[in-house]
Amino acid sequence: MTSRPKYLSHSAYSQFLRCGLQYKYERIDKVPAPPAWYFIGGRAVHLATERMDAAGTWPYAADQLKEFWEAAFDQELDLAFREWPEDSEWRHTGRGSVEHGHDYWYNRGLLAVEAWQDWRTSPARNLEVAGVEVEIDEELPSGIRIKGYIDRVFVDQEAGASWALRGAGGMQGVQAHVLDLKSGTKRPSGALQLGFYKVGLELKFPGIDVRSGAWWMAKDAKEFVVPIGQFTADKIDYLAQDYYKAVENDIFLPNPGAECMWCPFKKQCPYSE
Ligand code: SF4
Repeated sequence: MTSRPKYLSHSAYSQFLRCGLQYKYERIDKVPAPPAWYFIGGRAVHLATERMDAAGTWPYAADQLKEFWEAAFDQELDLAFREWPEDSEWRHTGRGSVEHGHDYWYNRGLLAVEAWQDWRTSPARNLEVAGVEVEIDEELPSGIRIKGYIDRVFVDQEAGASWALRGAGGMQGVQAHVLDLKSGTKRPSGALQLGFYKVGLELKFPGIDVRSGAWWMAKDAKEFVVPIGQFTADKIDYLAQDYYKAVENDIFLPNPGAECMWCPFKKQCPYSE
């Protein structure tokens, strides 16, 4: 019998659904796997845009944007080299002359930070950033903890100005909007990740009204708003309890198919396609 997960996170849960066996290799057996360029690039885009928002001195000149990007990309590359020094073994999408490695991600990341600035400074937007990388670490009704970081929380401008002063007890009625940055090319087909964030934020700030969620797609340089009103603490708790039951009973279903192409555990997996 496997011990229960310490908490519920969307990344673990979604991996568990994509392929239970991959989840087991990575999170239970802790089989070492080389870093993937798309994770390195994606994390660097998050870091660079986070620093741009934290500094808040918009607009940035072209050379400042480049500095934000290069500092973040270098930091993530350093981490990856420490984890796995042989970069020829790092995983990547693309093949041959269009291999999506260093140069591909350098250029793509730079375009992403430029697009983020354009979007964040657009006069058409009337929302204020109330929180950057907002931590959630809350208890669902069953006692299972839900954890994660929300890339951005936006509120209307008046509420945004007083966000810091309100604290956990003073968010009654504030309308909020959660956003997740995506540096990949595919928009998620469902809104569950944003639903996790909605529920986590509502537990963290009782009375807050999380009205909507959105994916900000770097490749499109815009957000895609999706409905998330259907997600409640009880619904997330229900799936969390079933997920815990499956893990505790060693139910890790393999899902051979498209997921196998970039799976780091292909060599040891008997179901690999
Ligand atoms: S190779 Fe395919 S079936 Fe095997 S663990 Fe990876 S994704 Fe799952």
